Amino acid sequence: MAGEPQADCLFCKIVAGDVPATVVRESATTVAFRDINPQAPTHVLVIPRVHYPDAGTLAVAEPAIAADVLTEAAAVAAQDKTDASGYRIVFNTGAGAGQTVFHAHAHVLGGRGLNWPPG
Ligand code: AMP
Ligand code: ZN
Repeated sequence: MAGEPQADCLFCKIVAGDVPATVVRESATTVAFRDINPQAPTHVLVIPRVHYPDAGTLAVAEPAIAADVLTEAAAVAAQDKTDASGYRIVFNTGAGAGQTVFHAHAHVLGGRGLNWPPG
């Protein structure tokens, strides 16, 4: 069934508590945890508890949960006090764009200057 946990998905394992993560926020529909290979002082991943391969498919199937991911991303930025200086929410989609984990996730990046356009 759409959205069901996938046995081979790292982020489903984090949602289930089977793989440890430094969780900074949780909601009924989302989990936010620090990226294991941070690219900025704040680098947090916000994921839906349900499994969809990327942000677009999540938004089509579960628009309210996609909105929850954005709400939580903003809350993470505020919690890490990056909201005043500016932060970036990134959804890499597809291997060509750098997506390596095919469970929808928002990167929240902040705490340093962020160049535009990104690489
Ligand atoms: P992406 O490349 O957009 O698919 O992002 C996947 C992100 O997951 C990368 O930034 C990785 O550093 C991060 N990552 C991979 N494994 C873990 C883990 N066990 N805990 C936290 N972050 C992870
Ligand atoms: Zn998953």
